[in-house]
Formats: sequence, C-alpha cells, structure tokens
Amino acid sequence: MTIQAAISLATPIALLATSHDESAAQIAPDVSLGRAGSPEALDALARRCSMLTFDHEQVDPGIMRDLEAAGHTLRPSARTMAIAQDKSLQRALFQREGLPVPPWQQLQRAADLAEFARSHGWPVVLKAARGGYDGRGVWVADSQPTAAALAADLLAAGVPLIVEAWVPMERELAVLVARSPSGGLAVYPVVETVQAGGICREAVAPASIDSELAQQAIEIATTIATTIDAAGIIAVELFLAGGKLLINEIATRPHNSGHLSIEGCCTSQFENHLRAILDWPLGSTELLAPAAAMVNLIATETAIELPSRLPRALAVKGAHIHLYGKEMRPGRKVGHVTALGAGIEAALTTARTAAALLMEELEGTISEDQRPLNDGW
Ligand code: ADP
Repeated sequence: MTIQAAISLATPIALLATSHDESAAQIAPDVSLGRAGSPEALDALARRCSMLTFDHEQVDPGIMRDLEAAGHTLRPSARTMAIAQDKSLQRALFQREGLPVPPWQQLQRAADLAEFARSHGWPVVLKAARGGYDGRGVWVADSQPTAAALAADLLAAGVPLIVEAWVPMERELAVLVARSPSGGLAVYPVVETVQAGGICREAVAPASIDSELAQQAIEIATTIATTIDAAGIIAVELFLAGGKLLINEIATRPHNSGHLSIEGCCTSQFENHLRAILDWPLGSTELLAPAAAMVNLIATETAIELPSRLPRALAVKGAHIHLYGKEMRPGRKVGHVTALGAGIEAALTTARTAAALLMEELEGTISEDQRPLNDGW
C-alpha cells in the first residue's frame, strides 16, 4: 500500500523482503532478499537508497544506530524505533511525560504478581515487553496460581514481561499522526477499533465520542509524536474507560487502524507517511464522507480461494476491496474492505457485506435487493 502511494509521487522504492512471496515483494519493482535482522542486508539496502523506512517494528535498534552512525538517514530513527518496540520503555516514557497509562510495572519475578494484584485487582494482563503483535504476547490471567505459573514459564524462557491492570474499557480508539522532520504534523480523525482475540476486526471513523474527548486523544497523540521525535506515521492506540483515556501502545509506521484513510480521507496514511519522511508538505487528513468503515479479512481454518470469490464481492456497490496476496493462515490478516457512508452503520454494512462474501460460506452472489444501501457514497 505504501508502494501504491509511491507510484503517484514517482518515488522509487527498493524493498528488503525475506521472500518473493511477501505481499510487497509480489508487486515491488526492486526487491532484495534478506532479513530485517541482518546488518549486511540493511547496510546493502541503505547504500542504494537515500533513506530507509520500515513497515514493521522488528528491526534491531543496534543495527539501526550503526547505520545512522555511518551517515544513513533512517525515518523513523533508531531511538524512535527502540521506544516503539518496547512496551515497558513506552509506558515509562509516557508516565514521565505525565501522559495517562494503565497501572503497570515491569515483572522481574512471578512472586511480584501477588502484590500488584493486591493493589489493582484481578484479572491482570501479562504482556511480553517486546516482540508481540496481534495479541501474541498478551495474556489475561484471572487468578494468582494461573498468573504465577504463566509468568514463571515466560520469565524462564527469557521473555521480558510487564504486568498491567485489566482495563474495563468502553471503547478502543486510535489516533494517527503524520510527523515530518521539520516538525510538520497532520492528524487523522479519531478512529474507533473493534478487537477480538487481540486482533483488530473493524475500524470506523469518526469515533463515537464527544469532541472534547476527541481533542484530548489528539493532544495525547501529538504530544507522543513530538516526544518520541516521530518521522512518518505513528498510531497511538488508546483505551476509553470510565470516560477517561489511557494509552495502550504506539506503532511507528502506517497502521491497520489507518487503512480506511486510503479511500476515506483526502490523503491516505501511506501517502502522508512518504510525504512526512521526505519532509514534503503533508496532505489534508479530512474525511471525504460523514463516516468511513474498514473490515479486516482474517483467515480462519477454512480453506478459501479469495480470488475466485472476488467478483461476487466486487458487486457490492461502494465496497473497496484490498487483498494482500497472502497465504491463508488462521488468524492472519489477508485483506480488508473499506466503505464510506452517511453514517457509521451504513458504511459498516457495506464493508461487512463484501467481507462476508469473501470470507464466509455463502452461496452464489447477492441479489439486487440484498445489496446494502450505500447512500450514494
Ligand atoms: P499487540 O501489541 O499484540 O497488539 P496489545 O497490547 O495492543 O497487543 O493488546 C491487544 C489487545 O488486548 C488490545 O487491543 C485490547 O483489546 C486487549 N488489551 C490489552 N491490554 C489490555 C488491558 N490492560 N486491559 C484490557 N484489555 C487489554
């Protein structure tokens, strides 16, 4: 999706990928094979490019620092990436800045759990400080024996852990900010996400919250962008609990919660990521309709041939379908559908209808009278 944006800006991209099967490698004109953890692979790429950027956070900050020391430009920088990679570093930094985070602590010994739970109650949430994604690395434990056994196993396996109070949240929100090295900021409308099993299922914008809360969310996100010296897109994930905002975590790259910006906003997060890292003027983030909704296509155990189902889903008026060309492994995001609408429900109905035609065991195509009313968007 970044490459799509780069095409319009005539910005050549050289890609480092682990295999030619990766989504981006299937379409990038210039692919080198290598691991993101390989200093040699990154160095060879950096020598051919005016700048490096990243579509995931699993890059060793030590390698990144060496590249910076050798004079290469990395956006985001090694320092910013180190913060994004580590939930413990993030929380400590945000707390120092006076930003709201859930009660938490680093967990050195399983025995410390009892004390934490005495102060904050059960359940507690154990999180791998580094390396998790899509809920891998997040465990909710509702009693001392379960939590202690789990923590002991994880610590013995060398997993750095934090423990966090379980937040009884009303909503999950995300704010995307594009930030350029010269300090330019562009903030997207607050997005509301629906997660299940630690995976984002749906995202809608604007979030159904009052304008004061939306403003607070935006202030938290812009403060973080500046504090971590972000370059490009960052996403700040927030919990809304008891009418108050708490920061969950950040991502320093184009993010799933911003995919709806491709069709939903004047400038997509991918284009603004490029504009930001290149220090070009940032594009308007305004919504192009009263509401936008995105539904993720998440692979299940059932074998599905997405390309063969595509035509029937394309019949849903107003549904924008994105398939990633990924192998169907259960729990994997293999595409998404976006729709715009006069309201959230209308946009969601359109996107869900197309998503169901792609992912569920439905027979045939939808008839004219089953088509969602996409109210002209
Ligand atoms: P990942 O880094 O894998 O995305 P997150 O830390 O974002 O993991 O957690 C995944 C999901 O788990 C969140 O979106 C949220 O739904 C739930 N979750 C995480 N932390 C808490 C918490 N402290 N209280 C309640 N639910 C939580």
